[in-house]
Amino acid sequence: MNTAPDIRFDCTGCGKCCTGHHVPLTLDEARQWTGSGGQVIVLAEAFLASGPGLPAEQREHALRRSWPVPCGSTEVHVAITFAAFNPGRCHHLDDDNRCGIYEARPLVCRIYPMEINPHIPLRPEAKDCPSEAWQSGPLLIHGEQLVDRRLAELIERSRQADRDDIRGKVAICQALGIDTSALKGNGFTAYLPDTRALAQALERVGPEGEIAPWTLHVQDPGLYAQLEACGARVRSEGADYYSFIGFN
Ligand code: SF4
Ligand code: SF4
Repeated sequence: MNTAPDIRFDCTGCGKCCTGHHVPLTLDEARQWTGSGGQVIVLAEAFLASGPGLPAEQREHALRRSWPVPCGSTEVHVAITFAAFNPGRCHHLDDDNRCGIYEARPLVCRIYPMEINPHIPLRPEAKDCPSEAWQSGPLLIHGEQLVDRRLAELIERSRQADRDDIRGKVAICQALGIDTSALKGNGFTAYLPDTRALAQALERVGPEGEIAPWTLHVQDPGLYAQLEACGARVRSEGADYYSFIGFN
């Protein structure tokens, strides 16, 4: 018998989710974001299909939203996120905590506080929403199932965009010299490309063409050796054009 509690939700409009969150964007949304002067951060994580970095239960989801790229004498699947760079308040958030592009806001803004990744359950305590937001409003989760059909459709659109966009993101990264990824589960590499160069690449670069090799960035010596033994090209030293954000 399922004993998971029902979850209700009613947004209070506090604006916390619009502050200090990098908002994942589809390619179309990234074009609009850069077009309005917004900065985009690029996050990369990769895994070997038969090696470290891919939990079995996440395999299907991870494979569908990633793309195989050469890496040393093997290949890795790279997943790339283009996200609105919001280290502070989003530049569309006004003084009354209202979204200035509400009707055209990104999919992920419409989906919050739900999760896009099917392997991450909704945990209210992990979200920015104040406690009162979870105490009333329409039923969101019943028996661990999302009951809001409109939200379910938005989540599916976001997942589908991840799959549709990934080849184009690989090509855009290549055009911008982005070629090093962290290992999935171990961290991300993060890039802040020049906004004008990214905007041009978003307009001009298509998903076709040969794919250049990628490198994995790991700092753990054991993992480094394990990946090298799999044939992957690995580095542990950073470079000035990206940051490695490791998980503890
Ligand atoms: S686009 Fe709007 S909803 Fe999304 S983070 Fe910015 S202010 Fe918030
Ligand atoms: S943090 Fe939660 S309650 Fe606050 S505006 Fe965002 S979705 Fe609404």
